[in-house]
Amino acid sequence: PEHVRKEAPLPRYVRVNLLKTNVEDVIGHFESEGYSFDQCSNNYNSYEEYLASVKSLTGKHFLKDFHLPNVLVFPPGKDFHQHPLYTDGSIILQDKASCIPAHILSPLPGSNVIDCCAAPGNKTSQLAAVMNNEGKLHAFDKDGARFKTLKSMLAKAGVQCAHLHHQDFLKVSPLDKTYQDVEFVLVDPSCSGSGIVSRLNSITDKEDSTPTQRLGSLASFQASILKHALSFPNVRRVVYSTCSTHREENEEVVQRVLLETGGQFHLTRALPNWTHRGLGDFEFGHLCLRASAQPDYTNGFFVACLERCLGDKECLD
Ligand code: SAM
Repeated sequence: PEHVRKEAPLPRYVRVNLLKTNVEDVIGHFESEGYSFDQCSNNYNSYEEYLASVKSLTGKHFLKDFHLPNVLVFPPGKDFHQHPLYTDGSIILQDKASCIPAHILSPLPGSNVIDCCAAPGNKTSQLAAVMNNEGKLHAFDKDGARFKTLKSMLAKAGVQCAHLHHQDFLKVSPLDKTYQDVEFVLVDPSCSGSGIVSRLNSITDKEDSTPTQRLGSLASFQASILKHALSFPNVRRVVYSTCSTHREENEEVVQRVLLETGGQFHLTRALPNWTHRGLGDFEFGHLCLRASAQPDYTNGFFVACLERCLGDKECLD
């Protein structure tokens, strides 16, 4: 029917799990199955040139992503759920936009990290790979069924540095000495999911308008979980992300939390070479990142990176 909004299907993004393998071996594996890797994707001159290649991707061709070195891009509709590299945990089927938050947080190997809303665990296993499985990665989820999935997903991905907590993160005391060395936190809370393209394709425009009341309670929850993350005593960097397109869950949450934490934190430019930025009617909008089907060929996503102010200068940024 006319009122159903249709987005073109997204490419199939494949994140190479560096805990199990490397990009060259995965490319070689697909080539041995008759796929051809576009060598030019090692050296695009511009994002526009990359987007044009993604747009024309068909059949058994694939490329490297422009921004994320461990992400490969296949044509829409490829289903790798039965593929041996997927079943043995060598590749993770994760939308490109959802690979951005852990890439930006980039916790150092050996550091202490919290993933406060972790299940099913795509970003947790990515964080473990960035950390080279060294350090402590505390992963929380309060939902029982999703927590089980998290456990098995992390085992399959070869994650060894995770400490799993089936717990409401809001009830974790920032004064608990278990977490006193935590410097990096990923906040990827439940959201309306209004950015998910497959969802957009199955609902009508009318249904898409998330009721104001629901949006308000999601936003309050998101703001409290982000504030809670910032209250850990040694936290240095916190990345906040949603798969929502609503400003109420994105820039407005960031604005509220920056105000309520009284100048202790500032935003740094999330993924500097990403051109699609946050909404321009917020003065900090350009520091945040948005992604969407057009122009980025990803789900709708929002990412902000907050860092503790260490001196007056940084806070004036
Ligand atoms: N980061 C995950 C990934 O990349 O695979 C996706 C996280 S999903 C958007 C949000 C998760 O937050 C859900 O699994 C939900 O159960 C969990 N959650 C919601 N409120 C929570 C809370 N107060 N404490 C811990 N987990 C919570």
